[in-house]
Amino acid sequence: MLVRMLKLRMLNAIAPAYFYIATVVTIILHFFLFVPTIFQASGVTLSPIVLLPTAIFLFLMVNALGNYSMTVWFPAESANENIIPVCSPDCPDRVDAHYLLNGRHFCKLCRKVIMKRDHHCFFTGNCIGNRNMRYFIMFSIYTSCTCLYSLVLGVAYLTVEYSISFENPLTFLTLLPLSTGYFFLGTISGLQFFLVLMLYVWLGIGLVSAGFCCQQVLLVARGQTWCQLQKGKLVESRGTWRSNLSDVFGSRWVLGLFLPVQTEEISPGNWQRYHEHKHD
Ligand SMILES: [Zn+2]
Repeated sequence: MLVRMLKLRMLNAIAPAYFYIATVVTIILHFFLFVPTIFQASGVTLSPIVLLPTAIFLFLMVNALGNYSMTVWFPAESANENIIPVCSPDCPDRVDAHYLLNGRHFCKLCRKVIMKRDHHCFFTGNCIGNRNMRYFIMFSIYTSCTCLYSLVLGVAYLTVEYSISFENPLTFLTLLPLSTGYFFLGTISGLQFFLVLMLYVWLGIGLVSAGFCCQQVLLVARGQTWCQLQKGKLVESRGTWRSNLSDVFGSRWVLGLFLPVQTEEISPGNWQRYHEHKHD
């Protein structure tokens, strides 16, 4: 038990580092390799055609990083309980959390009692719950878009720089084994091999984030959490999917789709209602 907990703690420290490294690598490749090469080859210098892909990339990146920060800045609501309170009778005592009475959870990694906990996200090092769920979902969407967009640019770069044609789907499938072989034979450089690896990393993260995000939206629409799903405890949804979604995404949800900002209109009056509502 102690070893497994230690592994989780390490994961909690290493996963954000991977996220930062992947972000920095993606930005460097975009600005110093992809855009200069792709547009130098097609003969256009500084024109709107060059600025558009950069603008799209920046938009996706700002939203991914912004929502990541918002997930951390607005952590899931925690109760002011420092000692581990009484577990519920059916608490399975998972590695990462205790299930407490009244639907609260004690996250062993955050060392806090979390209200409406969904799961602990290792990449942000935080629990995902009622307050940061919307940022977490938007973070997943934009991470997925940024990765798939980088994949497209990476493929364009390989086409322009090395005249690799990707018309045949087999080209992409055989790219990794062939590059690995060529790399060890010394035919291609370390940078070229790294680039090919990054294509697969982007594809992987892009697909996983998209899938995770779809599942999360579905859970939110049903008014359920990942915790409840894992316990096989599918609560009867009290609201319609519309009210469930607006509970999480806030009244100004349209704004939240394009900018990493607070989407809940909080006036003193409805702050009170918002709070009461969350505790029920
Ligand atoms: Zn946690």
